[in-house]
Amino acid sequence: MAEHFDVIVVGAGPSGIAAAHLLAKAGVSVLVIERGDYPGSKNVMGGVLYRHATDQVIPGFWKEAPLERPVVETRLWVLEKDSAITVGYRSPKFGQEPYNSFTVLRAKFDKWFAKKAEEAGALIITETVAEELIMKDGKVIGVRTDRENGEVYADVVIVADGVNSLLAKKAGLHGEIPPANVALAVKEIIALPKEKIEDRFNLEPGQGATIELVGEATAGMFGTAFIYTNQDTLSVGVGAILSDLIRRQVKPYELIEHLKAHPMVKPLLAGGETREYLGHLIPEGGYHAVPPLYGDGFLIVGDAAMLVNSLHREGSNMAMSSGRLAAETVLEARQKGDFSKRTLAAYQRKLEESYVLKDLKKYRHAGRFFETHPHIFELYPELANSAAYEFLKVDGIPKREKQRTIIRNATARRPLRKMIGDAYAAWRALR
Ligand SMILES: Cc1cc2nc3c(=O)[nH]c(=O)nc-3n(C[C@H](O)[C@H](O)[C@H](O)COP(=O)(O)OP(=O)(O)OC[C@H]3O[C@@H](n4cnc5c(N)ncnc54)[C@H](O)[C@@H]3O)c2cc1C
Repeated sequence: MAEHFDVIVVGAGPSGIAAAHLLAKAGVSVLVIERGDYPGSKNVMGGVLYRHATDQVIPGFWKEAPLERPVVETRLWVLEKDSAITVGYRSPKFGQEPYNSFTVLRAKFDKWFAKKAEEAGALIITETVAEELIMKDGKVIGVRTDRENGEVYADVVIVADGVNSLLAKKAGLHGEIPPANVALAVKEIIALPKEKIEDRFNLEPGQGATIELVGEATAGMFGTAFIYTNQDTLSVGVGAILSDLIRRQVKPYELIEHLKAHPMVKPLLAGGETREYLGHLIPEGGYHAVPPLYGDGFLIVGDAAMLVNSLHREGSNMAMSSGRLAAETVLEARQKGDFSKRTLAAYQRKLEESYVLKDLKKYRHAGRFFETHPHIFELYPELANSAAYEFLKVDGIPKREKQRTIIRNATARRPLRKMIGDAYAAWRALR
């Protein structure tokens, strides 16, 4: 296997394949190393795939990619024990070309995406684990795999091996991810007939909807849950920050059972049959957790570089955009014939100029805010739901009196001064 390629990409997820596809299309020899039986076999996402970033890799991809449904409605449910405050946005524009986002099943989508990279000329080897980067004089020159004589060499290695990146860790680019910087999510794929999905979610045939759930959905922990409509399945999942799960000694399967049993959720899933059960980590460290993104002979993309905006449930788009920008950087470096750190630094600049690092920077204080205000996910959903119940209940009590009761109940739980402090801190962290 001791061969030389122009570029080696480790990992056939959205970030790695985006890079490999664009490089192969430009005539560069690319090897992709993937540990799964096939690309996508081990990959997990909610999953909403965004049109914009994918279109920049394969223009008009929606005409042939295995997508589930275009998302026309996005809902947010703030859950209490037996109720929910619900808000949402629906637009038929999102159901028409050029679309905004689609639900996908990664096992199908990644396989197709990788095939497109192969058609463009990339070589993808599966069932192969990249064990470490091969270094010479402080420069990355290749990858050691678990195959016999499995060293492969390249001018540049693109590290796209996802969250908990073995390669980045072994190269000393980041250590173990602290449990406060990562969420553990579990997901079930639940089969239901198409028509039932459309009836229950109030959708036209073929249209899709997403529901994000907070509060009781995560038993008050720092995290979110989701229900997404696929063609004839639902993706139902929940994730919480690992440090919270450890502290409260909650097991992920308990969380998803808790979610599925909620009176708001149960009717949506009734009669469904669980087809798959999956678990995965999500990088949640944000801007401050992003490791060095480049060095002599390598670039890091996607989850391996912690490029996830969890507040907006955006990871796949950041993965694809970072893969695309890495490919652009490599093409420029090839023109110069220089793969040193100095030339590859252009990748960091490109990310800084794009929405990727701009958005992560905007929310750079969010993680700390949620960590220091754990009651946000428990107290406020409870207060908001009980206030709505009180105010909407028609029982002959004058509205002003109801208002007073709501304020009295709320301030008994948290003094007004502290609530104003929370609102100010939230504004500062999220503005
Ligand atoms: C439950 C959940 C829900 C999510 N929902 C959404 C969503 O709705 N929308 C969204 O945009 N994002 C979502 N995300 C985030 C999104 O999935 C990721 O940001 C995205 O998949 C990152 O792509 P990637 O290519 O960087 O990494 P990955 O998709 O993780 O791909 C990494 C690849 O590298 C391979 N690999 C790993 N180690 C090695 C090795 N040593 N050798 C060889 N191959 C290796 C893996 O098998 C895998 O194929 C979600 C994540 C989770 C866990």
